[in-house]
Amino acid sequence: MKFEPRWIAWEITQRCNLHCIHCRTRADVNKKDNLTFKEALRILDDISSYARPTVVLTGGEPLLRKDVFDIAKYGMKKGLKMCLATNGTLIDDKVCEMIKESGIQAVSLSIDGSSAEVHDDFRKQEGSFDGVMKAVSKFHQYNIPFLINSSFTRRNIHDVENVYRLCKELKPVAWYMFTVVPAGRAKDISEELLDGKQIEQVLRWHLEMELKEKEMIVRPTCAPYYYRLIEEENFKNRKTLKLSPGGFKGCVAGQFIAFIDEEENVKPCSYFLRNAGNLKQQSFSDIWEKSEIFRNLRNYRKYKGKCGRCKYLSVCGGCRVKADAVYGDYMQEDPSCTYSPI
Ligand code: SF4
Ligand code: SF4
Repeated sequence: MKFEPRWIAWEITQRCNLHCIHCRTRADVNKKDNLTFKEALRILDDISSYARPTVVLTGGEPLLRKDVFDIAKYGMKKGLKMCLATNGTLIDDKVCEMIKESGIQAVSLSIDGSSAEVHDDFRKQEGSFDGVMKAVSKFHQYNIPFLINSSFTRRNIHDVENVYRLCKELKPVAWYMFTVVPAGRAKDISEELLDGKQIEQVLRWHLEMELKEKEMIVRPTCAPYYYRLIEEENFKNRKTLKLSPGGFKGCVAGQFIAFIDEEENVKPCSYFLRNAGNLKQQSFSDIWEKSEIFRNLRNYRKYKGKCGRCKYLSVCGGCRVKADAVYGDYMQEDPSCTYSPI
């Protein structure tokens, strides 16, 4: 298999106007931006000299950076497919015009509850649900393609079917359901994260729903065991989004995706607890091709515990972040998996 970077999430700021309970980067409005515009352009030169992935500008809230659209424009000029991940609270006419003008290909928004009560409790900001609903109508007005990401813990999992129905009405190009992993602020609420049985239950619901869903692309994200269920069901011809890294394998960390944080550390995925290298000292291609972490993740013979002996390893892969959080070893078995390989 050829492992190439198809999708890179790039944290261009750690500032955010919200204070979400699961925030990977523990974003805060008072943090400082360390990454300069000049450094940002250097990173885009570096990536584009090696590959042409989708690059998602994320944060924090990337719209808090004044140069976000100049960064996007430069990326587009270099042949990268630039996207934007926003919490949706800062979208107005001006921002929509800038999105269009910069050439940004798609925007992702977050909706974690079907009502203001549930969503605002997750996002820890009153009014954020109304804000994201306004953003959706602005995106339709300006014909901007958008995806919706929804994150779930025990706090809001009761609302998952309502969130799906709401998202269907909002007509995004795709709905991505996340089961929160223990990274960043989510580590502080580990007792609230879904356990293996709860994840299996919601994934079985999702599979049933996906088999019937004809309009919207749906994708459970960071729930690699879904790909075992797909195999068991022999589900073929799933709809996929061109800008996303696939839909053919569960965990694609370090294999088709990577993450760059605001300090220029490169990781296999947005939630990974370890750095594989830093772009101040090394090129992206060097880290992608040579770092020990990235090479290990691509070597299926090195996986340990039940993942190591599982027939679904190459389609699932288990969550490496969860393995690391529990065993201090990202190559260990995924502690949330309910499947017992023979
Ligand atoms: S044992 Fe590992 S590879 Fe197999 S289904 Fe479970 S998490 Fe996936
Ligand atoms: S290790 Fe894989 S499954 Fe886990 S959070 Fe990262 S990309 Fe998602």
